[in-house]
Amino acid sequence: MTGNNQGVDNIKMHLNQINPKDKLLILAKRVIDGTGAQPKNNQAIFIENQQIKNIIPQKKLNNHPELNNYHKIDLNDTTILPGLIDSHVHLALDGIDFKKTTEEWKSPAKTNKRVKQELENTIKKGIIAIRDGGDKIKIGLNSKRRILNNEIVGPQIISTGQAIYKDGNYGSFLGPGINSKKEIKNEITRLYNLGVDQLKVLVSGIVSFSNYGKVGQVQFDVDNLEYIVDLAHSLGLEVMAHASSNEAVQVSIKAGVDTLEHGYFLSEESLKLMTEKDIPWIPTVVPVANQTEVPDQYSDEELDVIKRTYKLQLKMIDKAKELGVRLGIGTDAGAYQVRHGLSYFRELELFNQTSLTPLEIIKIATINNAEIIGLDQKLGSIEANKEAHLIGVKGNPLNDLSLLKDPELVFYTPINNETKLSQLEA
Ligand SMILES: [Zn+2]
Repeated sequence: MTGNNQGVDNIKMHLNQINPKDKLLILAKRVIDGTGAQPKNNQAIFIENQQIKNIIPQKKLNNHPELNNYHKIDLNDTTILPGLIDSHVHLALDGIDFKKTTEEWKSPAKTNKRVKQELENTIKKGIIAIRDGGDKIKIGLNSKRRILNNEIVGPQIISTGQAIYKDGNYGSFLGPGINSKKEIKNEITRLYNLGVDQLKVLVSGIVSFSNYGKVGQVQFDVDNLEYIVDLAHSLGLEVMAHASSNEAVQVSIKAGVDTLEHGYFLSEESLKLMTEKDIPWIPTVVPVANQTEVPDQYSDEELDVIKRTYKLQLKMIDKAKELGVRLGIGTDAGAYQVRHGLSYFRELELFNQTSLTPLEIIKIATINNAEIIGLDQKLGSIEANKEAHLIGVKGNPLNDLSLLKDPELVFYTPINNETKLSQLEA
């Protein structure tokens, strides 16, 4: 491990990078593995080659043949969980001042410095992977490259580079905008060649904080969106669809997008279709709910609209659970009042106001999100052959989900993917 822990049994470091040669044996009071299974007490987790090798009850350790080859870490007062994942962020924005941040884009040094700090804060909170929804100057993609090059420390990034949107509509800070099928094709090809992992499409504008139920207009019809989705899929790119009205949700479902972002005001019928087509929903409640934290900026009428909007969203999450829609946790960090590495826990808190149990919420935050961002082969659960990404908290998060806010310990495996790296350098 990289850190100051000198091979002692009680490690005190907060953030611990797992190195290829580390052979670790973590003794945990309790393991919540992220799959939705009930927690298991007094477990021993073997880590080798930066992967979880095995998990066994501690009472079976005595006759383990290779016990002494492992560096033992006694966390018998700690609950161990998989590293957390945020399915929707925008590193290009800071969540505080849109105008100031976008002006700062002119100074890459300043922006890089801010983002470096945001990424560090994020991983220190135990968020070990994020999906970035894009920005005009490709800060998300550039951050991915910097992490791959070991220039900075941060979570693994799935990047969309820039977003596809209809010229003249909402989205001008997210990409260049397109006008025709020919331009769609050029854009997707360009993004693919840049090495993006997924494609982000703005199917609608944003939700209004002054008119209840009002959302910026739908940007693509089914024919055009289907064209985008098919093209993306032919290149092996999944499509994350920003759809903030039921109309946009319907278009997105028909066009066959892979994940549905926001989905404010979506109908029960839409949720049923999403179950049928197995399209996950990332409801991003916090960008709306957090507006109530700055009441001075809104009139009473507006605050009422904001409250009704996010409370409806919580109600629809209950419906989604009932209908078996796969859910994901995304914060839209970077949006006004949504902070990188911090607001994630507010989103968990909001989910906790629904009928979802803490165990279900942890599953959504880990394995569900790993599936959504396409990394479930290596992240999202404490199971054999997964990469080693673990967080440790004192106490039992199933009794108090807010414990996740301040993890005692974070273990992470740095990303190592040479193919993508060379692509991004080109
Ligand atoms: Zn977004």
